[in-house]
Amino acid sequence: MKILDKVSKEIQSLKPYEPGRPIEDVARELGLDPDTISKLASNESGLGPSPLAMAALKEALDDMHRYPDGGAFLLKERLSKTFDMPADSFIIGNGSNEILELVGHCFLNPNSSAVFSDYAFVVYRLVSVMFGAEMIIVPTKEGFISDLDAIYESIREDTSVVFLCSPSNPTGRSISPEAFDAFMDKVPEHVLVVMDEAYAEIALCPQADSLSYVREKRPIIVTRTFSKAYGLAGLRIGYGIAAPEIIHVLNQARQPFNVNLAAQVAATAALDDTDFVSHCISLYREAKAYIEGECTGMSLEFVPSDANFMLIKVGDGDGVFKEMQTLGLIVRPMSGYGLADYIRISYGTMDENRRFIAGLKKCLDK
Ligand SMILES: *Cc1c(COP(=O)(O)O)cnc(C)c1O
Repeated sequence: MKILDKVSKEIQSLKPYEPGRPIEDVARELGLDPDTISKLASNESGLGPSPLAMAALKEALDDMHRYPDGGAFLLKERLSKTFDMPADSFIIGNGSNEILELVGHCFLNPNSSAVFSDYAFVVYRLVSVMFGAEMIIVPTKEGFISDLDAIYESIREDTSVVFLCSPSNPTGRSISPEAFDAFMDKVPEHVLVVMDEAYAEIALCPQADSLSYVREKRPIIVTRTFSKAYGLAGLRIGYGIAAPEIIHVLNQARQPFNVNLAAQVAATAALDDTDFVSHCISLYREAKAYIEGECTGMSLEFVPSDANFMLIKVGDGDGVFKEMQTLGLIVRPMSGYGLADYIRISYGTMDENRRFIAGLKKCLDK
């Protein structure tokens, strides 16, 4: 078919994103009851969705014949209150992944390069390739910590975007506030810093004050999401925070009704659900201590994480992933990230976490 020859080489070279496997998929394939499967593979909320968000969502269902507000006025007003920043500092996306893609639309092209860490979130690579930008991938320091000095050194004249992430996925490691400030002190003005803070609300250690640089109107965009802390991954909604000039440019590339009505209503309500987020943080602290303790007991290496998931070195990661599936446990294999001897597990309820450890012991004969 001739038409397929016209597809750009960038798009042709893309490998599809490998998501955590959906429960229904695994149930069908292995003939298991979906209700007996625990999905601990996509860093979703361990306590389900925010109750305040769900209540608001149910009430909004009768309005689904209406288009959403393309400008997401109410949500931006609510964000403006939360962050004490003008409403035009925010852009709402169909997941924060869409914000990353809009950054690509506006700032990446075949004459530019993007710098990011090795073992970084795979979407930085996807977006860079999609828009034909050269990727400059910087090795991490010991323990998978982003090397901001090396990232700074890698910036070239043609670099337009640096992707940073804290806590990072899949490593769970944070960028220290000192390292971030030192980087921001010297990063040149021709670079847009993308600070991906998908786990900010549930981070288990103090994070850099990235928003202070937004307030100074520096070339930086901070991205956040409702998928992780608020448990709204299925609704697809996230946002970016930046100087109004940057937000304006990103809006030029945005589809008119990119964020659906249900997601906008739920997200606005979720911002009031600080109790829910606190409960999640308590759970994640308990889960981290429990799983780290069990790993130490089994002499398994793990990467100390500041988010709601953890990399565990199991040897044959793909093999353990497959065997755990037969036990009704979906974890994430990591070979796509060049970490074939690891799995990544997202914390569930403590019952699920105990079930995971029992399954892991079985798979590894411990
Ligand atoms: C989950 C995640 C996101 C994006 O999630 P959305 O569901 O698109 O909002 C972005 N960055 C990192 C590092 C993530 O782990």
